Amino acid sequence: MIGHEISHGFDDQGSKYDGTGTLNNWWTAEDRKNFETRTKALTAQFNSYEPLPGLHVNGAFTLGENIADLAGLTITYKAYHISLGGKPAPVLDGYTGDQRLFLSVGQIWRSKYREGALRAQILSNEHAPAHFRPLGATRNIDAWYDAFDVKPGDKYYLPPDQRVHLW
Ligand SMILES: [Zn+2]
Repeated sequence: MIGHEISHGFDDQGSKYDGTGTLNNWWTAEDRKNFETRTKALTAQFNSYEPLPGLHVNGAFTLGENIADLAGLTITYKAYHISLGGKPAPVLDGYTGDQRLFLSVGQIWRSKYREGALRAQILSNEHAPAHFRPLGATRNIDAWYDAFDVKPGDKYYLPPDQRVHLW
């Protein structure tokens, strides 16, 4: 979550403000174009999620939060491996370190919605419904495929060239 919050400084909105908090585009045109190409793919992924029949997540509206979830998980994964200091993670209760890390992401977003609350969330909240947050981030992380042996044909499999890598 700390990684998530820090990355808001570099998302679709935060990236438009400089280090003093002034509205000032400090990115090169090339960086901006590259960022927009990658985030367009993330927008399309979230547009494809349909929490209620006929009602899809709004990928553009939730983009900043989806960027932050992906960035947060990306830096968490790196930090976890740095913390291991070059040693292999222990297998605990039958789960590898990477499996436990990804399972923890799923666990923190466990939730239940009544239909009205879910509908309100989709229509008026810049955060995607909770169950799409770990899903939307993990399927863009290559290590998740290795951790759970996710293969073509699995429901949330993405080919490597369709995975969004932002940071
Ligand atoms: Zn956020």
